[in-house]
Amino acid sequence: MMYPPNFKSYGASSAPITLFPTPFPKQAFSNANDVQVLFNELYINLVTKHKVWLVDILKDLSTFDADFTGKLFETYLKALEQSPGGKFIQPLSLGLFRSDYMIDSRGDVPEIKQIEFNTVSVSFGGLSTKVGQLHNYLNKTGLYDNTYSFPYYSEEEVPVSDSINLLASGLAEADSKYREAQEEPAATTVLFVVQANERNCFDQRHIEYSLLNNHGIRSVRVSLENIQSQLTQTNNKLYIKETMDEISVVYYRSGYSPSDYESNPELTWSARLFLETSAAIKCPSLLTQLSGAKKIQQILTSPEYIQKFLPLIAEDDLKKLLSTFVTIYPLDNSPQGKLAKKLAFEEPERFVLKPQREGGGNNIYKENIPAFLQNLKEEEWDAYILMELIDAPTHKNKIIRNDEIYNEDIISELGIFGTILFSEETGVVISNKNAGWLLRSKFSSSNEGGVAAGFGCVDNVYLY
Ligand code: ADP
Ligand code: MG
Repeated sequence: MMYPPNFKSYGASSAPITLFPTPFPKQAFSNANDVQVLFNELYINLVTKHKVWLVDILKDLSTFDADFTGKLFETYLKALEQSPGGKFIQPLSLGLFRSDYMIDSRGDVPEIKQIEFNTVSVSFGGLSTKVGQLHNYLNKTGLYDNTYSFPYYSEEEVPVSDSINLLASGLAEADSKYREAQEEPAATTVLFVVQANERNCFDQRHIEYSLLNNHGIRSVRVSLENIQSQLTQTNNKLYIKETMDEISVVYYRSGYSPSDYESNPELTWSARLFLETSAAIKCPSLLTQLSGAKKIQQILTSPEYIQKFLPLIAEDDLKKLLSTFVTIYPLDNSPQGKLAKKLAFEEPERFVLKPQREGGGNNIYKENIPAFLQNLKEEEWDAYILMELIDAPTHKNKIIRNDEIYNEDIISELGIFGTILFSEETGVVISNKNAGWLLRSKFSSSNEGGVAAGFGCVDNVYLY
């Protein structure tokens, strides 16, 4: 389920979905799952073991994108300043990440290529399980076979993502570590920081229900605007004012885009600072969120950097990681950047231009790139990265959206979820795990695949 645009709270409707699971190469699926814990560790190592390097890059990015990256970074600095001895009260930090891929079928074998690595507010872990269950139901009841009513797929071919429970387990693990560290452990609650008119709230609800049913952990949903009126701190511990329930984990499903702060910038940014300085475990911390910047993703495509940040990585693993990258160029004055500035004008149809933004609808595609760049001062180009387009194969499927069925050629994007609990202070990793997957599909004619934005739908894999 999802709320439609301009919804009334009683009027939920079905999210856009595919009727059938979409073919996805088994080997590529397995590779994407294999590299997840490596990616989890790679990104948190930037935050824990290469903080100076990361902060240096973020400082630069902040000057190019003062309005958003700059505000997040400034809030991080303020939080650090307000912390006793320049050390955060809560050393532990939680990441619920999602690495997104498309299939590149140019070579002999289809390979996964990374679209982006998400470190904040990763969505659709809830709906992914549900659509997987739906496809399984249709299969087991024989509804996919209109001759004999036999299951059309074998069970191994249409696995169901356990992302609801695995993401909830990630939060539960953080909650449990939080309580272990208390002198007098009290019952704790997980705070979901949410957007005021979230259409995708049912996706989040599944995680809440799993937290409660599997772990006995309650949760509350509060928007950034309401944080300071509904929460309070005593000795840095975070409590819900009304009940004085203690918050163990602050889980952001908001705060990743400038629009999340727009209604009242002063109030919302100070709420972010208020939460960051509390003793609750943040998922993610400001620095962890910032490590997911598109610029960082561009830098990490270099083998030297991967080896620097994952010094103990096995040769095989390194190969696997590197095989997921397409070329991403900076748009600065480095030799690579100069080449990119030429390519952007001479062969724009091969590229997508990305700003330092999350959440869909921000990228500039193909022939729109030259005019877009010409409208900016060249100094401002630094805030963008130029990425090779992945030419993913299309498949036929039926998309069910509102009251209509579309018979379309679709393109799919696989997201692999991962959870990592770590000490931001020492770099010690307490747990690092895979947490299921998501297949999102979109009409092959559309550039982007945002489900809530209306371009895409939730799907599941048929492994072959
Ligand atoms: P956002 O942070 O807004 O989600 P993404 O980098 O994920 O930005 O890009 C949004 C969408 O654009 C992706 O879901 C995908 O459909 C499309 N896209 C992005 N990069 C590429 C690429 N290199 N090749 C093909 N499609 C891409
Ligand atoms: Mg994306």
